[in-house]
Amino acid sequence: MIVHMFVADDISPAHEAEMVAREHASPATGSTPGGRTSWATTTWLFDIGAERTSPVARVRSALADLTADLNRLTRGTELAALLTELELITRSVEAATVKVMARADRADAFRDDGHGTLAGWVRSIIKWSPSEASARARTALTAHSYPALVERLDAGTLGVAQARRLAGLHANRRVRDELPIVFDTLADIAGALPYEDFNTAVLRWEQLADADGAHRHADVVHDSRDASVHPVGDTVYVDAHVGTAQGALILEVFERYVEAELRHDLEARDALGLTTMSDLPRTAAQRRADALHAIFCSAAVGSSPAPEPVVNILIDADTYEAALVAMHNDERLPSLARRPEDIHRRRCETTSGLMLDPIDVATASLLGHVRRVVVASDGTVIDLGRKSRLFTGAAREAIWMRRRRCVWPSCSRLHCEVDHRIPWSEGGRTSPDNGDPLCAKHNRWKTRGYRTHMNPRTKVIEVTRPDGSTISPV
Ligand SMILES: [Zn+2]
Repeated sequence: MIVHMFVADDISPAHEAEMVAREHASPATGSTPGGRTSWATTTWLFDIGAERTSPVARVRSALADLTADLNRLTRGTELAALLTELELITRSVEAATVKVMARADRADAFRDDGHGTLAGWVRSIIKWSPSEASARARTALTAHSYPALVERLDAGTLGVAQARRLAGLHANRRVRDELPIVFDTLADIAGALPYEDFNTAVLRWEQLADADGAHRHADVVHDSRDASVHPVGDTVYVDAHVGTAQGALILEVFERYVEAELRHDLEARDALGLTTMSDLPRTAAQRRADALHAIFCSAAVGSSPAPEPVVNILIDADTYEAALVAMHNDERLPSLARRPEDIHRRRCETTSGLMLDPIDVATASLLGHVRRVVVASDGTVIDLGRKSRLFTGAAREAIWMRRRRCVWPSCSRLHCEVDHRIPWSEGGRTSPDNGDPLCAKHNRWKTRGYRTHMNPRTKVIEVTRPDGSTISPV
């Protein structure tokens, strides 16, 4: 029932407290110019018999309602719907937290008790780890310039990790001035793509927006390269760090050898009629160590297992030209990310996704150490029609350039086979626009009625279940 309350202005604080205790609820309050708190005239909902509940208790009660029937739920889809609901609540709570911290920053309130930073102040209130506190402080500071960050978080279209990643960009002074150009595009990508792909887009943009800084940093990393093989007691340590120009080749060769070790393990397991990854004879760590040993064995017998160019580099024509011009004129590289579409268009990386310094790539192309793949701004499409049932050669590489990892949601395995989106048996063509990377395991799942298709709006590859519903993370 609705109660209209009219209370005198000059009620004493003692009476206020008494009234709250008696009525189990407090109406809205306002401040008089003199600073005294007074009851305002107010209309409120008064539920007779109800306990007065704090916000925490109300949220807890809502959460208890959500999970009340938990033991009756057995289906993945029901539990997934519940998790989605909880995640949306988490995002709203994060948005509110960030808003309060942004207010503390605006009002300089964090300087109470002698704190010098927002993160330090908030850690005096809540036992967050230093990294949690800094991540939220960065997000709060970003919210001043980008209110849309908090709005998207609260609306649930942006995840907490994604919001923090965007705030990290804002904290990077070297790219901060250019962030307004791409902020909305990156936030859209965050909402549409898996986290790893969003993070790749952010890394790409960060590197291209500060191409000169990235180039000088690449030089520093290369100059400080180091490798050592040294025995300590009964262990031999192999330690090394190199820049991306050398690292691209090392990584490519290493991954090939690791993949070969995995194939051995899969064959050994399949021969025993076993099926799960835990049935493999070696751990992933052991396979990596054995792969490194195998590389040294190859060197010892002088054999080269790589008949093809070892590293394929993907660079767009504009970036390549900018790097050549900068080299020729002995100038700094300009920012290569001046328009939102540059996020989708600009590339300077190996086909396995290792980002490279454009100057290194331009140098290598002149020295002929790598095969150069220049993609036109409209993207190259190599259509092989229905000639071949398998994706091989250029068609497979064109798909790997678009994406190297398995497209199954949450699977991020490299070393995939390329699978027909519209099956070959149903007339699907063996062309790059009808192929997606799928790992061996998820390739098998497709035979159980799962289908892949491209969402025409977001251009993201989605997987649909046999019942037609889509596996799509929020
Ligand atoms: Zn997979």
